[in-house]
Amino acid sequence: MSNDLSAALTAAATALTAASDVTLLAHVNPDADALGSALALGLVLQRLGKDVRVSFGAPASVPETLRDLDVAGLLVPAGEVPAAPEVLVALDTGSVGRLGPLADRVRTAGTVVVLDHHVSNPGFGTVNVVDPAAEATALVVLRLLDELGVELDEPVARCIYAGLVTDTRSFRHASAATHEVAARLLAAGVDAEAVARPLMDSHPFEYLAMLAKVLARASLDRSAAGGMGFVHAVVTLEDAAGLRPEEVESVVDLVRTTAEAEVAAVLKELRPSYWSVSLRAVSRVDVREVAQLLGGGGHRLAAGFTAEGDAAGVVGRLRDALETVARG
Ligand code: AMP
Ligand code: MN
Ligand code: MN
Repeated sequence: MSNDLSAALTAAATALTAASDVTLLAHVNPDADALGSALALGLVLQRLGKDVRVSFGAPASVPETLRDLDVAGLLVPAGEVPAAPEVLVALDTGSVGRLGPLADRVRTAGTVVVLDHHVSNPGFGTVNVVDPAAEATALVVLRLLDELGVELDEPVARCIYAGLVTDTRSFRHASAATHEVAARLLAAGVDAEAVARPLMDSHPFEYLAMLAKVLARASLDRSAAGGMGFVHAVVTLEDAAGLRPEEVESVVDLVRTTAEAEVAAVLKELRPSYWSVSLRAVSRVDVREVAQLLGGGGHRLAAGFTAEGDAAGVVGRLRDALETVARG
């Protein structure tokens, strides 16, 4: 860890120790890393006697698979987030915009602590602990907990494990040191299979029919992405009807297995003609650069953006951005 990062970590611990009221925010459409990180830190801060709440800008409901992490009932709807929080902590949030309808709180809060691992994070807080080398924000939070000198118990360790197992694709993108962190979390009592299965491997039966329909329409373009190959699939509102966001989010994990394509994309229709697009690369294309050309962001091998219009138009713009990045 660099000196700058250690200093930022100390500053974050100091700001949180001094606080009496802390609001922790995850990015919109929160995943296990964003919400697990927020809940882990929230649990600890509550035990330290602070008034704590955890929230996110959208959607209105908490993803079903993440509800069990909130053992202390810290989650509140976005509408209950104070207009001017004393201390705001933004987690796994690479830019202010990713807070969605709660983005204005960055301006109104007394102190803003940013805990993140996105390389593109501009450092929008008063205190910024941003470590692009960390495979998950949950690891940044764990370092902060160590800095605070608190004990790691099972509920806290479980929240951290949830973020870690998902952001590392089940530890396939995890360093030796991060595997040691996993060992520490298991030693604290985490049941790895019980945490990971609902998050990554469990869907209602209707999921299979949705997949059959969506995957049958998937399209491969071997010449795209500078000849490295591009595969994409589209999940319309009609395809997703009656299913949870969890089912829709997992489609990209199947599409990305296409051996002929370096880059995979899934267009997810959030409302008519408004799409959230997931991008994945195997190893050679930096999809964060692609996403940034289209107003989004993310990591080298996993990124995303939102777009308006018909699916064909969105794919066309994506293909152009891919060529720009792939051909350097
Ligand atoms: P997803 O495909 O939704 O799992 O997102 C993959 C990664 O891309 C996330 O971890 C974020 O870092 C990033 N990302 C996704 N959507 C956006 C967006 N609209 N704007 C900025 N970053 C995004
Ligand atoms: Mn995230
Ligand atoms: Mn993350």
